[in-house]
Amino acid sequence: MIQFTNVSKIYPNGARALVDINLKIESGEFVFLVGPSGAGKSTIIRLLYREETPTRGQVVINGKNLLRMKDRDVPHLRRNIGVVFQDFRLLPSKTVLENISFALEVIGVAKKEVRERTRAALDLVGLASKEKVFPNELSGGEQQRISVARAIVNNPALLVADEPTGNLDPDTAWEIMDLLYNINKRGTTVVMATHARNIVDQMQKRVIAIESGKITRDEQKGGYGYVD
Ligand code: ADP
Repeated sequence: MIQFTNVSKIYPNGARALVDINLKIESGEFVFLVGPSGAGKSTIIRLLYREETPTRGQVVINGKNLLRMKDRDVPHLRRNIGVVFQDFRLLPSKTVLENISFALEVIGVAKKEVRERTRAALDLVGLASKEKVFPNELSGGEQQRISVARAIVNNPALLVADEPTGNLDPDTAWEIMDLLYNINKRGTTVVMATHARNIVDQMQKRVIAIESGKITRDEQKGGYGYVD
């Protein structure tokens, strides 16, 4: 589903974020990206939803080469990729319901279907009762649940998450992990960058370790495996 071939990324300021990365992720996998700050994890995530493009090499998702993709085709790609951030990034002036349905309205989904799919996403994250409130009336964990609901409301093939538990206490972090686990069980590929040692060690999923822009370890059922 995802293939990186000799991918390097050098930012305009000269920072070498990724150096000659080769990587293959199959449909349905759950993958943790681990490594010290500045290793290149977020850059991999941003390449996946084409927030960035590689300086060299190819990123192919579902047979589509993201480098050759025209800008006008990017919205179509993003519809099939859900993104969750550490800092939630909900729209503060929209209600919970609107934050989720917005993702469907902008792509022209019919009203009735918007309503059905938004409710289903809210049910999945267990927050149907909060649909009318605004993000600042919710706890951090609840806000992250809403952002997960928003990420999956299009039923994407791929969910990418950049430190989704980074702002949450351990119990709440596990609630979010439960959600991601179940979303993956339903067939969505999940790629998650994280510093959460306990979570990585307990989940026993594939672990790809990055250091200084290079893959240093790639293990099925791996652990966190390095000292922060
Ligand atoms: P991580 O997510 O593992 O902390 P990043 O992918 O954010 O690592 O960063 C990798 C390297 O690229 C770091 O040296 C960082 O300073 C640099 N970098 C990241 N984003 C940018 C950017 N937008 N502009 C310039 N340099 C960046």
